[in-house]
Amino acid sequence: MSTQPSPTTLPTSTRIYSVSQLKLYDLCPKRYQFQYLDRIKTEIQYIESYVGCRVHDTLEHLYQRLEAGELPPISEILTFYRRQWETLWNNHVEMSHSNNSREWHRRFGEKCLRRYYTCFYPFHAPDIELIGLEWKFQMTLRGPQGEYQMRGQLDRLSRHSDGTYIVHDYKTAKYVPSLQKLQQDIQPGVYQLAVKHTFPDADKIEVIWFYLASQRELSPTLPEDRLAALESSLLQRIEKIEASEEFLPQLSPACRWCDYKQLCPAYLEQRFSHGAERRRYLPTDWGD
Ligand code: SF4
Repeated sequence: MSTQPSPTTLPTSTRIYSVSQLKLYDLCPKRYQFQYLDRIKTEIQYIESYVGCRVHDTLEHLYQRLEAGELPPISEILTFYRRQWETLWNNHVEMSHSNNSREWHRRFGEKCLRRYYTCFYPFHAPDIELIGLEWKFQMTLRGPQGEYQMRGQLDRLSRHSDGTYIVHDYKTAKYVPSLQKLQQDIQPGVYQLAVKHTFPDADKIEVIWFYLASQRELSPTLPEDRLAALESSLLQRIEKIEASEEFLPQLSPACRWCDYKQLCPAYLEQRFSHGAERRRYLPTDWGD
């Protein structure tokens, strides 16, 4: 496995952004403020996210063993998953908005892993070199107002013997978007940019999004012109945030899953109002 540049060797004087930060600002600037500027910590983790994390841990474990020259049977992979599930389970995992039980979610993760294993067994790819699992990156974006850092982590990065870099990301969501919609999401493009910025020889990059529940693979790789446009739009987003003096709440159905509901003046105002707007944004389990 080759090494990657250490983030500590890169400039750190500017504020560092991530895909999650930029997406959260788009969703609701107030929520962005609570989380990234006021740094108000919430310990809630929704069950869907918990399942996703345990499946990702397990796939990382699988690829570590493959890299070590082993081919573990699916029974061992599922044993690892179950052990992680029980060991890391905690009181902050939030079930209340899910109609399914804890056990249902655990089995759903297992099903995803079985399907992935069956799909790629025996994982024999002699032309592919693994570059990194949970590969971390930090890149510099230079704009007219200054330079900014973006960092993140992608599930797996490998390189084909023909020189193509391959970005792999696993998704446990049941919903599979259209390719067009996925290409409008900044996440795949940011990963593609990160590889391009990190490896001078990365002339060919392929991005693969694998949806485990449906065993569907999408390739939201952007052509050069769209990648350049994405880089400009990332800079514009960051510069807009940097210039913001006010972070206004943006009510939407996503408020139901916001951890800062009880701190948000706009949301609380809705709570004590009546009519259609109230029904639209309030969770059904608020209890009043
Ligand atoms: S409750 Fe809604 S409007 Fe308020 S911070 Fe959260 S997402 Fe934004």
